[in-house]
Amino acid sequence: MQTTTRVAIIGGGVVGASVLYHLTKLGWSDVMLIERSELTSGSTWHAAGGFHTLNGDTNMAALQGYTIRLYKELEEITGMSCGLHHVGGVTLADNQDRFDMLLAERAKHRFMGLETEIVGPEEIKKIAPVTKVDGIIGALYDPLDGHLDPSGTTHAYAKAARMGGATIETHCMVRATTQRTDGTWDVVTGKGTIHAEHVVNAGGLWAREVGAMAGIYFPLHPMEHQYIVTEDVPLIRDMAQDGKEHPHVMDPAGESYLRQEGRGLCIGFYEQTCRPWAVEGTSWDFGQDLLPDDFDKIEQSIEFAYKRFPDLARAGVKNVIHGPFTFAPDGNPLVGPVPGVRNYWSACGVMAGFSQGGGVGLMLAQWMVEGETERDTMAMDVARFGDWITPGYTLPKVIENYQKRFSVAYPNEELPAARPHRTTPMYDLFSNMGAVWGHQFGLEVPNYFAKTGEPTYETPSFRRSDAFDATAREVKAVRGGVGINELQNFGKYRVTGPKARDWLNRIMAGRVPSPGRVALSPMLSEKGRLIGDFTISCLADEHFQLTASYGSQAFHFRWFLQHQEMGVTICNISDQRTGFQIAGPNARNVLAAVTRDDVTTMKFLDVRRLTVGSADCIVQRLSYTGDLGFEIYCDPMDQRSLWHSLWQAGQPHGMTPFGMRAMMSLRLDKFFGSWMAEFSPDYTAAETGLDRFIHFKKNDAFIGRAAAEAENAEAPARKLVAFEVDAEDADVQGYEPIWLEDAVVGFCTSGGYSHYAEKSIALGFLPTVRVDEKPDVLIEILGKMRAATVLDQPLFDPEGKRMRG
Ligand SMILES: Cc1cc2nc3c(=O)[nH]c(=O)nc-3n(C[C@H](O)[C@H](O)[C@H](O)COP(=O)(O)OP(=O)(O)OC[C@H]3O[C@@H](n4cnc5c(N)ncnc54)[C@H](O)[C@@H]3O)c2cc1C
Repeated sequence: MQTTTRVAIIGGGVVGASVLYHLTKLGWSDVMLIERSELTSGSTWHAAGGFHTLNGDTNMAALQGYTIRLYKELEEITGMSCGLHHVGGVTLADNQDRFDMLLAERAKHRFMGLETEIVGPEEIKKIAPVTKVDGIIGALYDPLDGHLDPSGTTHAYAKAARMGGATIETHCMVRATTQRTDGTWDVVTGKGTIHAEHVVNAGGLWAREVGAMAGIYFPLHPMEHQYIVTEDVPLIRDMAQDGKEHPHVMDPAGESYLRQEGRGLCIGFYEQTCRPWAVEGTSWDFGQDLLPDDFDKIEQSIEFAYKRFPDLARAGVKNVIHGPFTFAPDGNPLVGPVPGVRNYWSACGVMAGFSQGGGVGLMLAQWMVEGETERDTMAMDVARFGDWITPGYTLPKVIENYQKRFSVAYPNEELPAARPHRTTPMYDLFSNMGAVWGHQFGLEVPNYFAKTGEPTYETPSFRRSDAFDATAREVKAVRGGVGINELQNFGKYRVTGPKARDWLNRIMAGRVPSPGRVALSPMLSEKGRLIGDFTISCLADEHFQLTASYGSQAFHFRWFLQHQEMGVTICNISDQRTGFQIAGPNARNVLAAVTRDDVTTMKFLDVRRLTVGSADCIVQRLSYTGDLGFEIYCDPMDQRSLWHSLWQAGQPHGMTPFGMRAMMSLRLDKFFGSWMAEFSPDYTAAETGLDRFIHFKKNDAFIGRAAAEAENAEAPARKLVAFEVDAEDADVQGYEPIWLEDAVVGFCTSGGYSHYAEKSIALGFLPTVRVDEKPDVLIEILGKMRAATVLDQPLFDPEGKRMRG
């Protein structure tokens, strides 16, 4: 057996095989896959082999499209068959919300190059005749849907990889992974030890156990899953005689997916009465095994399916497949460099290996070979969860995800399982004030504050929700007096040391401020993509505080550690520093009442250390609301005393607490972009206008400089623009197509309702050549074309007098 390799991939399921192939495709041939049994010996061999592009996350949907198109390429390269059946598929909608979701998906597909279409009940009957369309409003038809042979496909990936120089070692159990001091790994197997520069965990059903060998907890859990194959069905037999195949049918109401198998049908369920598997860990004795049939568990689902697909009821059951496969808490894969563990990569938690495996392999290979992926991978990045995640959190979330697999995913939905998980000292106090909670990176965050009689649960919806009145009230309180909002949900980092300034100058594209000042700065990847949108506060010569997105903490900190240098110390203090922001015309008066310092001399973007009430605080003058505002940071132990001081001082000024819904409305008044909407690794600084914060005059070779300079030399092809939309009751959420002269020319990044201006606002990309014309466009929201006009000046305080004054 080979004893050294550049990459050791542990696990020969469809995902490990895809990673192996993609590494060779990108030019790494000294790569090795280690499989304890035969290839496909985990979930892969018994999968139903279905594939589809539909995914609530746009980037995941695009990667699913890539995966599906890849199969032809694999067949061509290897001469092997993947057993492809590109039969197309319909996803049914039996109520308006489900139909709204399909309309929103269809709209996104227009600029993703996916040829889906909305069809009505009569067409559904023609396309998928086993379906009884009673009560069905419509469906999304996707010609790319289909199914394949799971084993044949995995072996095709393996053959293509071997052709690219890869090695595959089967019947070789990995028993331990130990890191050497130089960051390389000893992979101890039953056949001897392999010295590898990188390790990839593609252990599928055993990913938890493989991770534990390196001391890593992977937040995933296996669930039992069952599908049934019937005897011949006359309608299918007749279609086959005419040379036709029945397409897939996804019936979210019945939580089922159905397809043709031979001359019969195959139907699987995501039942509410689901069961987690191997809670204490996956046994090494489990192999190419199935679980005992369990019809009781899916009894209600079968009853429903018999009504939707009456042919099923008349066909005998030929085969039952009941097996386990793994899910992460949000159902998306766990991919990428494991934070804090050098040269250890994740390719696990892939619950739809035949829809997603190709995209996962491509992204991971790009990350390893090229240092970054070609598109934003946050939805599948293993760093979207932090150290706070535990098996006690993962299990209920995975069950929730399984049960909601076919539910409508609403843009404003807050899922309840495993909550509250992490709370600040304000939790009970805010709850008593009517806080309606959201959830970010494990933390409870107030979305809005309900008054007596107002809904304490925000009904999930694609349209304006019942949080509308409360949000309007909070926005008006900020703009007309003063609002207070908790600052916990910022990622915060302390950067200290003699080389702190040099390091920041290299890592950040923007200006590094002088002591007592604050600056905004984009953080760029080598290719010039936006990987952060930071506030840098200089507290002293060698002491800085950085703030950015709370949810991207593990993502940012991983980057910082990867680029750490001697002479600089970087600490993630996100949960060691908390506080409040106060914003609105009376904010200064409130602050003046609780500190002895003269805050009237505090200029916009100043930062000071102040005693506020009795708390030692870092106070900086800026606010994402775009109003006169102060961010006041303190130790969590002081948070309640700080609250009482500010709240008491705020009463004469009508102080009102506000939540994230109001915050997102307020920032729209100023067209401020939001992290992961306008600012994400999918976009560049010049495209989004963040290039105005790049300090090209500094003498430092900051990361991404060459790419940003090249982009600045030629205008980017698209630019971010703000629109006023003639919306009715549904505002832009993100990824709606922008139409101009009967063609899709761009898409929205985010939007919402400006309660201050009482207008519906959208931010989105237009081709740069069209921006100056300020064209009137149409934005497709839930299937309706809405007129939209370009806005060239912010709705609130366009000259920044209040913000800076
Ligand atoms: C009933 C059922 C139906 C399904 N239907 C579909 C479908 O229609 N479409 C779809 O896309 N997905 C489907 N899936 C899900 C699909 O099976 C998985 O997404 C996919 O198989 C995951 O592949 P994997 O490579 O990540 O993991 P696995 O297939 O579990 O592979 C992991 C491999 O790692 C090996 N391994 C583990 N530990 C070690 C070690 N220490 N040393 C060496 N080797 C090790 C194992 O032996 C195994 O071969 C279905 C799943 C089930 C249960």
